[in-house]
Amino acid sequence: MNLLAVHIPYHPFVLPFSIGLVFVVFYIFGKWIYWVSLLNWDDKKKIFKGIFSLKMPKAIWEVFMESLLHRNIFKRNTLLGYMHMSLAFGWFLLIVMGNLETRFFTHGRINPPYVPIFFEFFEHNLVALDYGKFFTFAMDLLLLFVLSGVGLAYFKRFKSKPLGMKNTTKHAFIDRLALTALWFIFPLRLLAESVTAGLYDAGGFITNSIGSFMMTFLPVQHYYYPLWWAYSISLGSFFVLLPFSRYMHIPTEILLIFLRKYGVTEKEKHTSFTKVELSACSRCGICIDACQLGSDLGIISTQTTYFIKSLRYDKPSEKLIDSCMACKRCDELCPVGIDIASIRVNTRKEQQLFGIDSYKYINGYKYQKAKVAYFAGCMGHLTPSVYKATLALLEKASVDYSFIDMDGSVCCGRPLQLSGEESAAKQLIENNVKLIENCGATVLVTSCPICAKVFNDSYKLNIPIYHHSQYLLKLVKESKLQFNKSDLQIAYHDPCELGRGLGVYDEPRELLGFAGNLVESSNSRENSLCCGGSLGITNISQDQRNTIASITLSELSANKADVVATACPLCKKTFKSVADDIRIADISEIMLETIVERQIKTKKETVTEYE
Ligand code: SF4
Ligand code: SF4
Ligand code: SF4
Repeated sequence: MNLLAVHIPYHPFVLPFSIGLVFVVFYIFGKWIYWVSLLNWDDKKKIFKGIFSLKMPKAIWEVFMESLLHRNIFKRNTLLGYMHMSLAFGWFLLIVMGNLETRFFTHGRINPPYVPIFFEFFEHNLVALDYGKFFTFAMDLLLLFVLSGVGLAYFKRFKSKPLGMKNTTKHAFIDRLALTALWFIFPLRLLAESVTAGLYDAGGFITNSIGSFMMTFLPVQHYYYPLWWAYSISLGSFFVLLPFSRYMHIPTEILLIFLRKYGVTEKEKHTSFTKVELSACSRCGICIDACQLGSDLGIISTQTTYFIKSLRYDKPSEKLIDSCMACKRCDELCPVGIDIASIRVNTRKEQQLFGIDSYKYINGYKYQKAKVAYFAGCMGHLTPSVYKATLALLEKASVDYSFIDMDGSVCCGRPLQLSGEESAAKQLIENNVKLIENCGATVLVTSCPICAKVFNDSYKLNIPIYHHSQYLLKLVKESKLQFNKSDLQIAYHDPCELGRGLGVYDEPRELLGFAGNLVESSNSRENSLCCGGSLGITNISQDQRNTIASITLSELSANKADVVATACPLCKKTFKSVADDIRIADISEIMLETIVERQIKTKKETVTEYE
């Protein structure tokens, strides 16, 4: 039996590591308990139920796939995914294998945490023991795995494009300090173990080779203790800096995954769940390249990574809060899955300007009763061809509808929400709900995806809500509408709120398929580009909006389409203002042009149209 199996080994150099570890463990668990204790009762009940349900193993699986393997980053760029995985999963495996090794050679004894970390210091002669060669080989291999990730991380600092990133986050001082400590950990471990292996002719295939080589030209015995001390200090420093730096995302992402799986979400104002989301942001910078304010306008200092960072530590500047088109491209690409849109809107709410009594006039409106309530939206009224085409199609299908914002005076409330005017938006919404209910409709149809989104999220209506592309497709499937397919080449633009906002990607395409042939652009569906006309941003100029619109439009028309089909009146209006040589038309207009002509009954008279 070796001596280690009898005595628990100790040396003072383990202190920096041990102090750092105790601090970080207490801090993390203290913070987790604090955040959870501040959640409301509903959320606490969800957590309690979730712990004893299948959600628990699902959350564990997601932690494995995301926090360790970094599946979402892999999907974006293999090299970037490998870098993150080798650091996280590699370090995890080193800890697991180190513990197995220690337990094995100390005959199952439970050791203080520093023993597996510095095992090569305490036990030089592993190779001579049974299975010693296996463990030294495995530990060297895992160390090499982690070091390959560290190497890529160094490389990314100087050249990030091969890892799929044009821009990276500019880090704060505390982040740089923690990063430096992290970057030193594994090279120092390699050196300390190699010097030990060289001095005692031990170690695995890498540490032994490096150690033997160093012995040929360096007095390595002088570096032995300093290197083990330095390794321990770098670990201890990293642990102490972790809670105050971006690396707090490592433990917090785990908590976030569990809370999300149990059903905890963002509310109408910031809660402690928001704090969890903010701390789970790794400041990876993926949201910088996703944002067209950066790629199209060269503004790269206001993206979500900076917004979240400043919100975590303090209050963001007005510029950081307002510089966002609410297009959700960053939401879609964020590997942590942070609900960025809700956090931004809730932050804007904290700067409200309006009173709450502005919308009483809505109670004065009365519209005829019908089965279908149609809502054009303000932007629909500013682009009348859209609602006219939609209504013509409803008439052709003999739909019993009521045009509930016919006089154009009612807004859905989304612009108020996007600018944080929550109480004014609430009053508007309450009045609109009465308006819709009074109409007695069993279905609500709108031509504006922004309206559809807010009807879905904030109206609590008991009737189904359709975007007009969805409802028209339903009418086609019920054989109430028929179209003549032509050779028209159609490039369809996914509006942000319809696609990323509501997940509606297929129905508009299916509908357009009855009119012509679809040509997909390189950034479609979840990756679709914003038109630049967003109501969510007020601090960019019209010229800047036009730049974004032109870039998006040139990408849409790159595949020689005859027409760019939009499904949002705002997108149509925005594209039209920059379109020189390509036609822009709403999906309803294209469908109306290709409808099979037949004798139809309108509400007013029987006419033959489009003959
Ligand atoms: S918000 Fe998401 S994408 Fe942006 S830095 Fe944070 S984790 Fe990365
Ligand atoms: S929502 Fe769009 S505009 Fe706003 S920060 Fe994200 S990518 Fe940029
Ligand atoms: S979302 Fe826009 S288009 Fe729809 S009603 Fe509201 S403001 Fe108008």
